[in-house]
Amino acid sequence: MKRLLNGWLLMACAGLAMAHGPHAAHEHGVAELRVAIAGAEVEISFETPLDNLVGFEHEPRNDRQRKALQEALEAVGAFERLFGLPAAAGCAMVDVAVEAPFGSQDHHGHAHGHAGVSAVYTLKCATPAALDVLQVKVFDVFSRTRQIRAERLSPRGQTAVTLRSKQADLPL
Ligand SMILES: [Zn+2]
Repeated sequence: MKRLLNGWLLMACAGLAMAHGPHAAHEHGVAELRVAIAGAEVEISFETPLDNLVGFEHEPRNDRQRKALQEALEAVGAFERLFGLPAAAGCAMVDVAVEAPFGSQDHHGHAHGHAGVSAVYTLKCATPAALDVLQVKVFDVFSRTRQIRAERLSPRGQTAVTLRSKQADLPL
């Protein structure tokens, strides 16, 4: 599953001038989405400032904040809460990997008062030809999200678009 994103990053470095990379400083209200399709395999990478999800980026200080963080991470871990693929494509989840701060698996630095959450979803689709659009429901679930910088790499080519709540679908 690393394979697809590695290819993506190589292409990105060689070709497009990407102002934002996986480890660039984040901007509140803005999230990033990368979709790579190769054969039957779809890999979707979602990165968001924690502020977009819960309105804070420090370690939870009370039960309300702990609950908010827990619920947010549950939503991020549930692909179908945030995204939708065409039923005709017959996609099944292969793997979900969520990285979040303040836990035992704290891979994300939160120096400078910032913290982010990232997830990589890997799916396998029975009919990849039916993959025409990725429905993005992030704006409904996490209303602090104003825009999502989305990139798509598929047999139809490589594109980058900015999604907003009124225009939330990513053509594949
Ligand atoms: Zn931040």
